Amino acid sequence: MPQTLAKETYFYAFSKENQTALKVPSGSQVVVETYDCFQNQIESEDASFNSIDWNQINPATGSIYVEDAQPGDILKVKIDNIELGNKGVLATGPGLGVMGHRIDEFTVKMVPIVDGKAVFNEKLKLPLNPMIGVIGVAPEGEPVSCGTPGAHGGNMDTKSITTGATLYFPVFQEGALFGLGDLHAAMGDGEIGVSGVEIPGKVTVTLEVIKGKSIPFPFVENDEGVAAIVSMETLDEAAKKAVELFVDTLLPHTDLTIAELTMLFSAAGQVQVSQIVDPLITARFLVPKYILDAYQVSLFE
Ligand code: CA
Ligand code: ZN
Repeated sequence: MPQTLAKETYFYAFSKENQTALKVPSGSQVVVETYDCFQNQIESEDASFNSIDWNQINPATGSIYVEDAQPGDILKVKIDNIELGNKGVLATGPGLGVMGHRIDEFTVKMVPIVDGKAVFNEKLKLPLNPMIGVIGVAPEGEPVSCGTPGAHGGNMDTKSITTGATLYFPVFQEGALFGLGDLHAAMGDGEIGVSGVEIPGKVTVTLEVIKGKSIPFPFVENDEGVAAIVSMETLDEAAKKAVELFVDTLLPHTDLTIAELTMLFSAAGQVQVSQIVDPLITARFLVPKYILDAYQVSLFE
């Protein structure tokens, strides 16, 4: 039976100072309970901006200390399962997200999850795409708020971080100090209104240390391929950096010139938008599996 880490053990910033809530050997499976990103404070559509304690936002459950993880290693995180609660919440308001300049009032919508759909209203039931908004490890330097993404992961709000996917994180601190939270029952690329269908839940992960390889940013792998996930001040910078990072990662594994690999990626790679509303913007560059297979590349182990 995997160990369970209760949601009451959480932090608001990824940090090397975070206490270890659970210490596990590499290869362990753990069930991680989570609050929603509002720490379950919103219980009805009457919630006002001022009724929410904005200091209690984006808790990540953790830290999980993974034995043998040392700076310069990779932490491999397989998402085995995401179990959602039965009630989600959407929110937006003035100054929030892409449309904040056109919205007068903080607005909340409760979104019940019924029969595998997110009920938006009587007319619209949205398909679920359960995903993890905040997931990562302690960063290299100063603590990073759970609201901000970066090289350590954090608030990447990336749709492909879902059941069946495998994440690879750079390890910056001994034990990696892993944590996650901010589940979404559904979210579109961009997360344009500043929230997905925010929901508490339970995530089952398998945590494994990979020695002898290091990466500068997180990557996510699924049946489709492998994507580099990069967060920067602007979407342009994030997208370009994700492409360049992948060029540098793959180039040594091929007999291609940089121009040839660029042409290949131009023909078959995908720049994708994760989110455009957090303190840094997150983009990803996906390289299809058949390209990695053709060069028999295993990037991380
Ligand atoms: Ca988020
Ligand atoms: Zn969220």
